[in-house]
Amino acid sequence: MRIVRFERQGATGYGRLEGETVVPLRDRPWEGVATADEAVPLEAVRLLAPCEPSKIVAVGRNYRAHAAELGNEVPASPIIFLKPPTAVIGPDDAIVYPAASKNVHHEAELAVVIGRRCRHVRPNDVPSYVWGYTCGNDVTARDLQRLDEQWTRSKSFDTFCPLGPWIDTELDPADVSVICRVNGLVRQSGRTRDMVFGVSALVAFISEVMTLEPGDVILTGTPEGVGPLARGDVVEVEIEGVGVLRNRVV
Ligand code: ZN
Repeated sequence: MRIVRFERQGATGYGRLEGETVVPLRDRPWEGVATADEAVPLEAVRLLAPCEPSKIVAVGRNYRAHAAELGNEVPASPIIFLKPPTAVIGPDDAIVYPAASKNVHHEAELAVVIGRRCRHVRPNDVPSYVWGYTCGNDVTARDLQRLDEQWTRSKSFDTFCPLGPWIDTELDPADVSVICRVNGLVRQSGRTRDMVFGVSALVAFISEVMTLEPGDVILTGTPEGVGPLARGDVVEVEIEGVGVLRNRVV
């Protein structure tokens, strides 16, 4: 099943994607998928980021080749950091290039969306707490990341967390491609099987630290090939089996 969040005639809600139509849902989708209303054509709605996270937990250096391209060692345990929910934008929304940076990078990532509140989850139990998967772009001001002693500023500008276009609830995340294109040219092309820590290990590790809530997002790290964006670029993140997340840089 594919879940969207959408805006139509000034109202927002969740829906189930069925072909080229959206079936509005009565409840928040992790509470059930009972239908609220008649299906509407996909082109009659504006898709929003498919969830409303209370936090976004991101993982650094989770692909060996990416750690190496930035001159870093592969960590012995996951390196996690937070992005604020105010950074989230949806499909086709604009990434705003901040005046404070001269080197903004794309980072295509598989995004895990949590479906049930959890804490201290065992790796084997993780699938029952995952709602589904979407595409994420961990947009990063690389110059500020190098300048600061930690990553908050470089990762947290408004619009630096595009998510979407929808949540696929049936994806097996073990081995799917993670691709980034800029203006149609492939910049990153990796596979999730090359993650240092897989989805279950990451959710278990993070849930030892903090309670995860429905709609929370875990960005699982980016494969090699990160690089600069420029104003006017169109950046796409494609996760095999999910879809394509497209944003313009302004
Ligand atoms: Zn990242």
